[in-house]
Amino acid sequence: MEKVYDMVIVGAGPAGIAAAVESYLLGIRNILMLEKDENHNATIRKYYKDNKRVDKDWKGQKVELDGNIYFLDGTKETTLDFFDEVIKAHGVELVTHTEVSKIEKSGEIFDVFIAGGSIKAKYVVVTIGRMGKPNKPEYKIPTNIKKRVGYTLDDCSEGEKILVVGGGDSAIEYAVDLSPKNDVSICYRRETFRRANPINQRDIANAIAHSEVRPILGVNISALEDEEGRVRVVYDEIEPEIYDRVIYAIGGTTPSAFLASSGIEEQDGKPVHDDNYETAIEGLFVAGDITQESGGSIALGLNHGYKIACHINEHHS
Ligand SMILES: Cc1cc2nc3c(=O)[nH]c(=O)nc-3n(C[C@H](O)[C@H](O)[C@H](O)COP(=O)(O)OP(=O)(O)OC[C@H]3O[C@@H](n4cnc5c(N)ncnc54)[C@H](O)[C@@H]3O)c2cc1C
Repeated sequence: MEKVYDMVIVGAGPAGIAAAVESYLLGIRNILMLEKDENHNATIRKYYKDNKRVDKDWKGQKVELDGNIYFLDGTKETTLDFFDEVIKAHGVELVTHTEVSKIEKSGEIFDVFIAGGSIKAKYVVVTIGRMGKPNKPEYKIPTNIKKRVGYTLDDCSEGEKILVVGGGDSAIEYAVDLSPKNDVSICYRRETFRRANPINQRDIANAIAHSEVRPILGVNISALEDEEGRVRVVYDEIEPEIYDRVIYAIGGTTPSAFLASSGIEEQDGKPVHDDNYETAIEGLFVAGDITQESGGSIALGLNHGYKIACHINEHHS
């Protein structure tokens, strides 16, 4: 007979790891965590710059940890090491390079679809975050300059003239982080950074006041062009300018296609769930950033995972 896992977790970020580990601690076995990237925590790995400070109470939101994963302030590296140990210490099977495309329930059992087949499970927890698919600009990016246009700090080096596009927390963090070693401008279609958290608003105001970041506010971009291998940014309101690199931080969308194909109802861009993070499909849960419009955090994701584990444990036969 084909193996039926007690629990399959889709996405190995903080919320998924918590759902898996807390369930294990409550005595649930046969837990499988599927991660599309090469290792757990792709969001932290890809979107946090090296040595980034990681705050437990991120954006000033105080979160009391409910569960058994004692996550503390640290850095990108200590946080990744911490989750490494947590996974290894708790008998959770992690399979990487495995993207889940959809989930279907037949009878009491779920089919979790991956390339070339499906995996069976009694409970499924979807913790795919919101960063899987960064929003991209509507205009076309010429092939020649594609390597100079990005959505993370991955390819950045030093001494470059860089334009960061966006006005939210990630855009500000990128601009401020890059500014000591690069010539950085930030372009935002609105006039102020009011959407960002207070710390980031303060940091960008300081950087601008000290001429470390040049603001281009209330301005829209209509095209990117190839200027002998560099990026010519065509603005609607001001003259074009040439940059070595352009980084877009214009948010990530809820992976709506995934939710829709799995029959999970969405409202206002978020999956519908009850207080235990269970969707209308019994046994199918959502947790972490995917449940938040904005402002998720590692600690919040850990608490979601714990709540789900407790709920499943109570109902598990
Ligand atoms: C630049 C930046 C800085 C931040 N700084 C902090 C901070 O200091 N402190 C803090 O608490 N929070 C911080 N956050 C927020 C924090 O990273 C998120 O709230 C947290 O990672 C959300 O956890 P999650 O488990 O919901 O999702 P994620 O961490 O996004 O994990 C989702 C995982 O699912 C995988 N996945 C996606 N789709 C699939 C699929 N179809 N199949 C299989 N796997 C899939 C992804 O590859 C990823 O590994 C920051 C975020 C950003 C972008």
